[in-house]
Amino acid sequence: MMDANERDCIFCRISRKEAPAEHVYEDETVFVIKDRFPKAPVHLLVIPRKHIARIDVLSSGDDGLIVHLFEVIRIIAATYRLEAGYRIIINSGAEGGQTVSHLHVHMIAGKCLGFREDAVR
Ligand code: 5GP
Ligand code: ZN
Repeated sequence: MMDANERDCIFCRISRKEAPAEHVYEDETVFVIKDRFPKAPVHLLVIPRKHIARIDVLSSGDDGLIVHLFEVIRIIAATYRLEAGYRIIINSGAEGGQTVSHLHVHMIAGKCLGFREDAVR
């Protein structure tokens, strides 16, 4: 049974193909899309299909999923030939800049990234 969060969540809807997105990778548990408002030449979102609201609510049962999420990050880095480097970011909560309440990892690359407060947003 799907709860209201899963039903209405934009990333759950994209996962179910009810909402459009440019998918660049998909498997049973993780998918990767292009960010709709890219902040750099490469701006991808690595997203578990499971609706996990934010990093704080991960449980030990999610260990395998998290390991796999990082595997996918490596696959994407290789596919996009990001040898020069990239940045991964997880925003958590309002003050962390999280706007979509479904855990996701930003993968950002293609320009020299500084370390300014506004480097991503
Ligand atoms: P957050 O601010 O939660 O860390 O990141 C959410 C990201 O999702 C933002 O970078 C935003 O541009 C992106 N985003 C929000 N809605 C959509 C959407 O419908 N499609 C895609 N592809 N990206 C989205
Ligand atoms: Zn969701």
